[in-house]
Amino acid sequence: MLRDFKPLKIYFIENRQALILGLSSLLLVDVLQLFIPRIIKRSIDALTIGQASPGLLLTYALIIVGIALVMAIFRYIWRYLVFGHSRKVEEALRNRIYKHLQTLSLPFYWKTKTGDLMARAVNDVDAVRMATGMGLVALTDGVVLGLATIGFMLYINVRLTLISLIPTPLIVYFTLIITRRMGKKFAQVQQTFSELTESAREALAGIRVIKAYNRQPWEYRRVKEKGEVYISNNLDLAKTLAIFFPMMTLFTNLGLAIVIWIGGHLTILGNITTGDFVAFISYLNLLTWPMMALGWVTNIIQRGSASMRRINGILQEVPEISSQPTNPFRGVIRGEVCLRNVTFCYPGKKDPALDHIGLSIGAGQTVAVVGRVGSGKSTLLHTIPRLVETERGMVRIDGIPIHDRELGDLRRSIGFVTQEAHIFSDTILNNIVFGRKGLRKDLIKNVLEVCQLAVDMDSFPKGISSLLGEKGITLSGGQRQRLTIARALISNPPILILDDALSQVDTMTEATIVGGILEMRKGQTNIIVSHRLSTVRRADIIYVLKAGRLIEEGDHAMLLAAQKEYSRLYERQLLAQELEKR
Ligand code: ADP
Ligand code: MG
Repeated sequence: MLRDFKPLKIYFIENRQALILGLSSLLLVDVLQLFIPRIIKRSIDALTIGQASPGLLLTYALIIVGIALVMAIFRYIWRYLVFGHSRKVEEALRNRIYKHLQTLSLPFYWKTKTGDLMARAVNDVDAVRMATGMGLVALTDGVVLGLATIGFMLYINVRLTLISLIPTPLIVYFTLIITRRMGKKFAQVQQTFSELTESAREALAGIRVIKAYNRQPWEYRRVKEKGEVYISNNLDLAKTLAIFFPMMTLFTNLGLAIVIWIGGHLTILGNITTGDFVAFISYLNLLTWPMMALGWVTNIIQRGSASMRRINGILQEVPEISSQPTNPFRGVIRGEVCLRNVTFCYPGKKDPALDHIGLSIGAGQTVAVVGRVGSGKSTLLHTIPRLVETERGMVRIDGIPIHDRELGDLRRSIGFVTQEAHIFSDTILNNIVFGRKGLRKDLIKNVLEVCQLAVDMDSFPKGISSLLGEKGITLSGGQRQRLTIARALISNPPILILDDALSQVDTMTEATIVGGILEMRKGQTNIIVSHRLSTVRRADIIYVLKAGRLIEEGDHAMLLAAQKEYSRLYERQLLAQELEKR
């Protein structure tokens, strides 16, 4: 179980000074509080034998105040240092997870749900924080404070101690049981809470659809039901919690009853003094927390280690696409792309998405890839920047296998506009520049022109500095697509890939944008997937895919004359264009 925590060792070493100081302070507080009953004993004994003087009592009172003060200071110190340490572990672990997630390849994300990853980063990291902070404290208190208290009790009277300890295992046991149950209920509450927020978010995000179909009552009921489950889970948790403290009081009072009965006897017989009798009761009270801590710590550590195991599962996940050449080929990419026998099958699928594809694209050429939905166009494009790894066959750029180049180098040379136009919650400018440095103003302006975004900018409140996303303005589908193309063009890559990147832009605008791109990128390679004939016709070569296989290639006139798949697609397209004109 402790082995699961091994990745955290470095943070314990890093924070060792704070940890040692914090835990020493904790120990000091633990020991100091055990001396208070000793002072009580002395005052009472002095009182009972009539030796107490106002001066003596004042001294005792001042000592207690002094102890309480020192305890307060050191309690502050340990809480700050130990819990501070656990917060640092939390931060480091979260960053480590995110950093690692970024290195993982697309196949990992095909098989992993985003919600699961979020849960790891939130709930599991939190459980680990508990284990490294509160777990440490509960363990120290349970063992050290527990043993020391029992020691002080034994010092007063061995027999009384042994008898009065009888109910304490019950405290440990029930804390164990109840905190475990609370942990489970709490997880349920969290789960239903995230379901509730998710359904509320969905209902608000989809408000237009809901209104259009007049589904408000139905949607209202859905959210309301989620809310009811959430409340009932919360009540469950409250019930469990409600059992806990009365149980603990019961057990403590059971001990108290024993002490009064047996300890009272011993006092009468003169085996212990009245002061000892009172002090003993104080110790028994003090013992409640360490016993609870012992029961609780088991759960904290168990939960923490289960969480840590899940986190380790992610951290041990190796990026599938990472093989880096030891001696990478560096050299400016001219833009010749050549695929030989490229084959790829998605995990769990029977038919390959790409079946022995071979094609060549000369440097400076513009090619189009066409085919029906699901024919493998996107998958084909993904093999070039190694977003998916071909199983057999090879992709070469300028005659050099892509595996012989450094991965970052390869991807920097390719501008890839994917099918989903993803926008980040940031300004328009930052979405285009995307962290790249030293871009010239006139270049940005030029790219905005080419993507037909310049006019749109004027209509935004803050122009190119307008915020996008949740808190900012909403772009139309076409605007998003044009923006993502600008993001790719801005770095002037030797190879540009547009995967259905203008599907939501009207035909006329698409023609203008493609014209502008080809003009701007003379002598550079462009690979374009499009459904629009006006775009496809412009290509030097058109490749036609069907069910993962390359079935035709050539220019527009040639393919039309062949009267096969391409001409069928063409006829449909003509029809669509006719319809669009009306
Ligand atoms: P296109 O871009 O031509 O529409 P794709 O390359 O997206 O085609 O898809 C080719 C085939 O691979 C389809 O049968 C599709 O269902 C399948 N496919 C695409 N992405 C995945 C994925 N992440 N996991 C499993 N199968 C996929
Ligand atoms: Mg596609």
